[in-house]
Amino acid sequence: CGIVGIVGKPAREIILSGLKNLEYRGYDSAGIYLNDLAGHEYLTKAVGRIANLEEKLTPDEQGLVGIGHTRWATHGKPTVDNAHPQFDETNRFYLVHNGVIENYRELKDKYLAGVKFKSDTDTEVIVQLISKVARDEKLDAFTAFKKVLKEVRGSYAFLLIDNTEPDHIFIAKNKSPMMLGLGDGFNIIASDALSVLDQTKKFVDLQDGDVADVTKDSYKIETIDGEAVERTPHVLDIDP
Ligand code: GLU
Repeated sequence: CGIVGIVGKPAREIILSGLKNLEYRGYDSAGIYLNDLAGHEYLTKAVGRIANLEEKLTPDEQGLVGIGHTRWATHGKPTVDNAHPQFDETNRFYLVHNGVIENYRELKDKYLAGVKFKSDTDTEVIVQLISKVARDEKLDAFTAFKKVLKEVRGSYAFLLIDNTEPDHIFIAKNKSPMMLGLGDGFNIIASDALSVLDQTKKFVDLQDGDVADVTKDSYKIETIDGEAVERTPHVLDIDP
């Protein structure tokens, strides 16, 4: 129901604070993935309030990139396994998702027979499929992501991290809000710009069908078919 991701700054407190700003939207569970870009990664999820998630995080669990999520369950009960980030069977890809994938069953039956699922979510089908396509066709994450998205029907705001190139966050948006906030030496992504206004006021409004590859000092927006897209950033002139 809410998403915050950041690359290029100590991520944990910024993500938790952004998720708290989104609490009013309602949620049943929450989760965070952090990567310190020095070979350590941390995945933590909890049912109930964000305070429950904070209690589970130990002081050393920090990152210079991370993605966080508050979930409003549509497919599968509010449990730790069903909370996001969802990840693939090789523990390489981490995905948060707002929205509903309409054809997740077809995708699962068609491409993922034999894959062991840990959750009941529509979201896990997408992260398992990205992993399979990347592995089988030897594609990088962004290419595999776009290839999978061509087959996905439904609403989504996705943030994806590939732990073999963890200084990137990959975004996709269709019928669920997603804003890219531009910072000095960092970039931040959120389902609602108001939740991260203490970090930046400069935003790119991503449009339906946009995908993006974001690092701490660059971003590239494309269509799912790989054509470059120009979106002009604007300044949100309101106080947090
Ligand atoms: N459909 C996804 C799930 O049930 C995402 C729900 C949401 O938008 O929070 O896990």
